[in-house]
This record gives sequence, C-alpha cells and structure tokens, in this order.
Amino acid sequence: MLNEKDKKFLEDSIRDIKDFPKPGIVFKDITTLLSNAKALKVLMSHLETRYASYNLNYIAGIDARGFIFGSILADRLGLGFVPIRKKGKLPYSTVSEKYSLEYGFDEVEIHIDAFGKDGLTHHKKPSKVLLIDDLIATGGTAKAAVKLIDSVGAECVECCFIMELSFLEATKDIKVPVYSVLNIN
Ligand code: AMP
Repeated sequence: MLNEKDKKFLEDSIRDIKDFPKPGIVFKDITTLLSNAKALKVLMSHLETRYASYNLNYIAGIDARGFIFGSILADRLGLGFVPIRKKGKLPYSTVSEKYSLEYGFDEVEIHIDAFGKDGLTHHKKPSKVLLIDDLIATGGTAKAAVKLIDSVGAECVECCFIMELSFLEATKDIKVPVYSVLNIN
C-alpha cells in the first residue's frame, strides 16, 4: 500500500480544472502528474510492486489516458499491452460494447485477437488481464471494457484506477475486484 505521505504527494501532483469539459464538472488533469518525474515514478513503482505477484498475462488500457499508465506498467512487468479504444479507431476486426452516458451513449472496441487466438494462454486457460484507466466516475466505461475482455476469451482479474470518484459508488456494480490508488471524495 502507498503511505499517506505518498498519496498526498500524488494527489497534489494532479490538477483540478473546474467546469471542463462542461459546467459543473471538475476535471482531474493528470498531465501535471505525468510531467512530474518523481510523481510518475512513485505511482508506477507502487503499481509495479502491487501487480508483480498477480501472474498477469496482459495489461489492457482504456482510451486514452489508460494507454499511458498501462503501457508503462506492461513494460515494467515484462507484459504486452492491449488498447481498448473508442469506436472506429482500431483497424482490424473488433468486438464492441455500447454503454450509456448522461445523454446518449458511447462505444468501446477491442481487437478480436487482442489476447491471441480465443484469448487463451498456451496452457489453454483464459489469459489473466489487468484493466487500467486514469479515473472511474460512473463506471460505465470500465464495465463495458470488462465485458469486452470477457467476450474475446480472456479474464479481467482486476480493474485499477489512479483515481476513483468515491461518492459516485460506481465500483459496487463492477463484477471484478477494483483497486483505486486515490479515493476522491
Ligand atoms: P465513467 O465511464 O463515467 O466512469 O468515466 C470514466 C472515463 O471518463 C475515464 O476514461 C476518465 O478518463 C473520464 N472521466 C470522467 N470523469 C472525469 C473527470 N472528472 N476528470 C477526468 N476524467 C474523467
């Protein structure tokens, strides 16, 4: 676990932007964490330590900020990285999942062979995947991403978020374990 001092240090490295992208939203801007070499190292070393013993096969990251943390972690653990993208961005055959937003819906996709043929390891077991994103708010995106990992034959063993908007209580609807580095109240 991260100690309180490191948590506070990470929290302070993230910038709040009021009323972005629309009035009433406080946008948690992780660009200031990324550009802070010490904060990035504290975060990634923590995640590396946590997940070293999970015997993972892949890290999957959600478009777009999940790609940054996910790729660094994958490299640190000696694993491959799989992108889950917004609709229309992946070039090969995909599986897609729609989810509702406050107004309308959005859609995320994964390549059908993202975790190899049938998503199985060479021992014929489902590949163990860690899903990562910067932030969980309502949980709609993460829920859809877990379904996608499932639908191509792999197993999402945990969802990891750098931040969780705890007051929205979204993690209770996610059927796999959730780990959030920072809880925002
Ligand atoms: P949700 O599906 O509601 O859990 O939204 C999660 C996705 O939206 C993540 O990919 C986040 O990067 C982004 N997101 C939602 N709310 C915020 C926020 N307040 N600050 C930054 N990103 C956000």
